[in-house]
Amino acid sequence: MRLSGWGRFPVQDARVFAPRDEQALISHIGAGHAIARGNGRSYGDSAVSQSNTVHMRFFNRMLAFDSTNGLLVAEAGVLLADVIDTFLPSGWFPAVTPGTKFVTLGGMVAADVHGKNHHKEGSFGRYVEWLELMDQSGSILRCSRDQNAEVFDWTVGGMGLTGVIVRVAIRLKQVESAWIKQQTIPTTNLQHTMEVFEAAQESTYSVAWIDCLGTQSSSGRCLVYLGEHATIAELSKRQQKAPFEVRRKKGITMPFDFPSWTLNQYAVKAFNAAYYKNGLRNQGERIVDWDGFFYPLDSILGWNRIYGRRGFLQFQCVLPIDRSEKGLKELLAEISTTGIGSFLAVLKRFGEQYSKFSFPMLGYTLALDFPVSERSLALMQRLDKIAASHGGRFYLAKDGRIAAETIRQSDSRSDAFIAMRTEQQLREGFQSSQSERLGL
Ligand SMILES: Cc1cc2nc3c(=O)[nH]c(=O)nc-3n(C[C@H](O)[C@H](O)[C@H](O)COP(=O)(O)OP(=O)(O)OC[C@H]3O[C@@H](n4cnc5c(N)ncnc54)[C@H](O)[C@@H]3O)c2cc1C
Repeated sequence: MRLSGWGRFPVQDARVFAPRDEQALISHIGAGHAIARGNGRSYGDSAVSQSNTVHMRFFNRMLAFDSTNGLLVAEAGVLLADVIDTFLPSGWFPAVTPGTKFVTLGGMVAADVHGKNHHKEGSFGRYVEWLELMDQSGSILRCSRDQNAEVFDWTVGGMGLTGVIVRVAIRLKQVESAWIKQQTIPTTNLQHTMEVFEAAQESTYSVAWIDCLGTQSSSGRCLVYLGEHATIAELSKRQQKAPFEVRRKKGITMPFDFPSWTLNQYAVKAFNAAYYKNGLRNQGERIVDWDGFFYPLDSILGWNRIYGRRGFLQFQCVLPIDRSEKGLKELLAEISTTGIGSFLAVLKRFGEQYSKFSFPMLGYTLALDFPVSERSLALMQRLDKIAASHGGRFYLAKDGRIAAETIRQSDSRSDAFIAMRTEQQLREGFQSSQSERLGL
């Protein structure tokens, strides 16, 4: 079948299997060159193997929950959306969540996803107590920080290249309500934005939408959103009566691929100006529901069609804290000069990262979507160079086009990752189109 990631680029012919039990999983993995696929929400080709994509959708059972400490044991194909639906009504929420709830637990571990709370609470791997990993012989190894710790460390953020995660035990966190106390802070330029982020280190959640087509004086202007889980006392009388009851809005579905000409720089500029103005009007504090705060895009099903038939790519890098301001300035200047805007431009502040191969590091991460074209591909190559020249690195879960040398040069850990894969003979067992392209 024709298969791609969420960005619908690149699209490849791939053989896809969806085993229903462990026995069937063993036989597919044994064939070699396998890669696990969760819900295909990574943007590029990390969950595609042309000869052996193993879809984990039938490994979707929740197995045990301990309400004394929030420990959930579940199969790797369980969707985060189902975890929230099941446990939020009794006061439990994921400790870390990406910007969509339509991801699987296996995909979250493999990409070691980060949320809006990385600066304070780290990435998803921190809340994984243990995982069970199937290797190419079909054996299942339980790994944790104390048991097979080395394998655990490489698997968290290892993009499916150490084996197939079959089960995980994750810790959820307790919340008093399904509501978030959100503060919107408009900023005027990059320096101002970074001051706001630095002053907000104690806020649980922080994220900014960034106007990437700002002119020189307004370059880096943002709407910074801060958030806290609302306590019962902070809710209205009506909300207090049922603090976990949130009326679910009906999602809309993108009915067709937008024609590519609709996404020109004038459309992006007009959208950005209107969005910023709206933020100015709505600045300050208000109580919003969890779905709107964490997953604004999930309400538009199939929103990836907005970029047209050729699909889109995401550029996401992280820059070390001491080089962030200079690096971000150069990245934004390059985008603005080229004039290829991005509707979805997001800036976040990361904290320290401890696992072996995860993406985050102490600094700032910038994520931008671009429709696929020769011009945008050339722009992204220039952005790669700028980010790398400031000591930055790139997020594999978003990548569908980076050159192997760029990854090798920008991420000193990739040599150790390749050596580990070679030594453990994992390169015959597990390969994605991405790992082949990047020589991982
Ligand atoms: C709208 C949107 C917003 C996003 N926001 C964020 C964000 O804020 N932060 C962030 O970190 N990410 C974000 N992402 C990216 C997303 O969280 C990751 O790509 C995640 O890995 C996708 O999970 P999935 O289950 O769809 O996995 P897939 O896309 O199917 O696979 C992703 C990787 O995980 C591996 N994998 C999947 N299942 C298993 C398994 N059982 N065993 C071993 N390996 C496995 C695959 O081989 C592949 O390498 C976003 C994506 C979208 C579409």
